[in-house]
Amino acid sequence: MALSSPANAVDVSAALTQLEALEADQYFVAFGPAGIQFCGTPNGYSANQLPPKIVKDLRGRQIKKVVWASFGSEPNSFFFAYEMKDGSPGFRLGKAVPTALQPFIKYASSTTLELALSLRVQLGADGSYVAWAGPNWTSFKVPSGLSSALYQLSSVHIEGKGGTLKSGSLDYVAWHNNGSYYLKGAEHSWKFQSAFMNQGWNDLWRGYNCDLLTPPELADLAYVAIDPHSQKGDTFMFIKKQQLGIEPAFVLKFESEDMISRVPPSPPADATSGLPQIPHQVVSHANHAEDPQHYHWAFSKRAGRPHPKESWELELKRGERVKVIKEMGRDWYVVLNRHGVKGWVHSSWLDFRGLQLHADPREAYARWTADTEKMLTTPGTIRNFPHLASYLDACAKDLCKAMKQDSRGIGICVHDLHELLRGSGQYSLDHLKAERNKWHPDKFARFCHPESRDDLKPKAEALFVLFGVLMDWMENPLEK
Ligand SMILES: [Zn+2]
Repeated sequence: MALSSPANAVDVSAALTQLEALEADQYFVAFGPAGIQFCGTPNGYSANQLPPKIVKDLRGRQIKKVVWASFGSEPNSFFFAYEMKDGSPGFRLGKAVPTALQPFIKYASSTTLELALSLRVQLGADGSYVAWAGPNWTSFKVPSGLSSALYQLSSVHIEGKGGTLKSGSLDYVAWHNNGSYYLKGAEHSWKFQSAFMNQGWNDLWRGYNCDLLTPPELADLAYVAIDPHSQKGDTFMFIKKQQLGIEPAFVLKFESEDMISRVPPSPPADATSGLPQIPHQVVSHANHAEDPQHYHWAFSKRAGRPHPKESWELELKRGERVKVIKEMGRDWYVVLNRHGVKGWVHSSWLDFRGLQLHADPREAYARWTADTEKMLTTPGTIRNFPHLASYLDACAKDLCKAMKQDSRGIGICVHDLHELLRGSGQYSLDHLKAERNKWHPDKFARFCHPESRDDLKPKAEALFVLFGVLMDWMENPLEK
């Protein structure tokens, strides 16, 4: 690529939003070592620190959805299962996946389509795994309770190797080497060796007899995740199936943070606390339908949250940038962090420095189109270059910020332009070409007032070049 763009800090979110989301009540949460995470939900996907191979896959435009992911302890130990656009299953295995597991994967992925479609691998810490396809499963180094549970569900098994289930296949398996596990196959089986997990489980089933949950009651459970790489085994998620019109109940905890739960019926907020009554913190993953029309950016002045025990307050890092979605009164705001977690923040924690109203890309694009059409109608009339930052100014990369503030520049970076154009809902190579043509320096110069032509032409050229970068990204997604 001829033009070096400051885009090396690659953001896969654009690729993730192109994927089809999982179906209702389908989830996977892949916890990896050192904060690596990938999850799929009916609302979309969220990810951080993905292996380069996966990033490449996601950008390759052949994948319809990601249906499963898990991470082992080694940096290159991962398993991803895809549904490709042509309906076939696809898999990506890290080089460090335990070698003993590879014959099973090879067999399951290459024997019948049915088997391949059902192949899942749950990797854990310290080389542990459970893999399954159809009625077959294999496991290594999992807690003995989980092994026993697998044996019980099986018609035959070979101790320490694997077996064949009496009926059906497995849905999901989770464990920590402290002995906690959850197994969902034809039956549910679990044991929690973490006080927090027990507490969270009781919270999820508030109003039920937790020791005697019946199969119809358990059928309301959608998914259980346990982070195998957490230090003490206190990172987990329980999520129930969605009931008509109500967001699904869930309990979530990261080891170092407070438990977050949304379980109805929730007790009314403490009326004496002087805080507005609000629902529990809500986790939303890349759900565009919920995107606000306008929002502000703000930065957190402090770390943590004003009332550490109030789980609906968003936990912030010092300097963290959040999207301010709504003013709730009494100086409280609902904000969204970059992981899509929504929560309440008090204004005393927020720095609205350089406060600017950012438009929804769809609205911004509509405004941009109307303005440029008007501008490019009568030759010899343009005296000022459009104020591009007024359409979208969201990219906070240091290089871009400096470049955007340069008064000689055009006030927009390639990332903001990308977002702006994606607001069209028809982002494509053809669309980019058509938009770029409008800014061809010679063509643009004809619309400029003769006195301003020499000033404006280089600006049109700079914008023309940015369009070229975006076209290059589309043609060579790896260079983005
Ligand atoms: Zn930028």
